[in-house]
Amino acid sequence: MIEKTGVPSKDLIESIFPDKVVLKKPKAIIECYKEIPCNPCSTSCPFDAIHVPEDINVRPEIDFDKCTGCGICVYNCPGLAITVMQLQNGKVSIKLPYEFTPLPTVGEMVNVMNRAGEVITKGEITKVQLTDKMNKTALIHMVIDEIYLHEAITIEVKHGR
Ligand code: SF4
Ligand code: SF4
Repeated sequence: MIEKTGVPSKDLIESIFPDKVVLKKPKAIIECYKEIPCNPCSTSCPFDAIHVPEDINVRPEIDFDKCTGCGICVYNCPGLAITVMQLQNGKVSIKLPYEFTPLPTVGEMVNVMNRAGEVITKGEITKVQLTDKMNKTALIHMVIDEIYLHEAITIEVKHGR
């Protein structure tokens, strides 16, 4: 499916998620499905949680035991292929990369999209981080219902937000 449409199948998406018990703490979810010569996710992680072998084309592997969910790899990935997710009381807290302006604001209810670019629900923005060292990629913190755990990936760009 991903070869034809660019959209990963449900099985492929679920294969990169850890058990829900693991997601009680924030963990990086790496959606890097293609073999490409790239490794900033690995080199930027201060906890040595992401491994890319000597052959830089091999897809990154994450050690969920080491990942603290800090989000540093999220804004260092040039492919915007990483989010951080955590399950809490029937909700998912997500940190996602965002490179558009204007940025959303804390408390704003935004349209949440799936990997096919369809709006699936609303999410509440809880924090927006953008510092000089983040190379113009903001880290958007958002909360959505848990039922969208495997579906939600980004937010709709709203001009004139
Ligand atoms: S979220 Fe932080 S600890 Fe986890 S893999 Fe990314 S950089 Fe490493
Ligand atoms: S930095 Fe992003 S695109 Fe590059 S290998 Fe890591 S996850 Fe894939």
